[in-house]
Amino acid sequence: MNHILYPIPYTLTIGWLYPELMSTYGDRGNVICLQKRCEWRGIKTEVKNLDIGFKIYDLRNCDLVFMGGAQDRQQRIVAFDLKNKSKTLGEMIEDGTPGLYICGAYQFLGKYYKEADGRIIDGLCIFDLFTDNPGEKSQRLTGNVAVRLCHPELVSGSQQERDSDLPQNDSACTLVGFENHGGRTYLGKNIKALGTVLKGFGNNGKDKTEGAVYKNSFGSYLHGPILPKNPHFADFLIKVALEKKYKKNITFSPLDDFLELQAHNFILKKLQIG
Ligand code: GLN
Repeated sequence: MNHILYPIPYTLTIGWLYPELMSTYGDRGNVICLQKRCEWRGIKTEVKNLDIGFKIYDLRNCDLVFMGGAQDRQQRIVAFDLKNKSKTLGEMIEDGTPGLYICGAYQFLGKYYKEADGRIIDGLCIFDLFTDNPGEKSQRLTGNVAVRLCHPELVSGSQQERDSDLPQNDSACTLVGFENHGGRTYLGKNIKALGTVLKGFGNNGKDKTEGAVYKNSFGSYLHGPILPKNPHFADFLIKVALEKKYKKNITFSPLDDFLELQAHNFILKKLQIG
């Protein structure tokens, strides 16, 4: 049975992995967006900053995980600390704890990330993918991006079939953002793409895939930050986190997303989509 949220106070603990080192191109805005969209619905949030040396216990008690991107140098520093936490993070992801991992963070979840200088950062081997950075001389994959979602459940409030009826540029089945990465990510067989590239480079500038989805964990190259201009994605993460924590279906009261969708559609228009 669906429960309307008001007036029962729900709480969510958001685990922010390495906020000092893994946050670039506005990524911290994703945490603010999640907090605000909860607050506007009377959902209490606590944000745990999980910086270098954080206790496993603090991560394990999070209902929703976020990690932003970074340059190769920061990724190398974080990799040492993250290695000791990979078992816990892997178990949480397997168990369906929702999470959003942007760019450098997304690369960490794979088998490895080959840096621009050729050194290998071992990945956590949670997502079936790997990332190669062809080096400083190669073009960086930068610019505005638009993606058509491959993951119907993510398409706000729709059934599978609704997804196919929606026009190419319907904001409910698209994501927009900004990318800037040297790494090219290649998906294996045991993982799905988050979306298909309409404009931009996405995972590798070749196979038109963008991001990856594994259980309730999402990797993406979209900075910006990604969530404010894609409120349906933010709400999906919050809904999954609440339903997992409270073990019941949750129905959200819609928010007035006029400004968010204006920003979303502005990028689609700018990229001449639809
Ligand atoms: N350093 C990685 C790369 O260049 C990730 C970049 C990022 O997180 N924006 O691909």
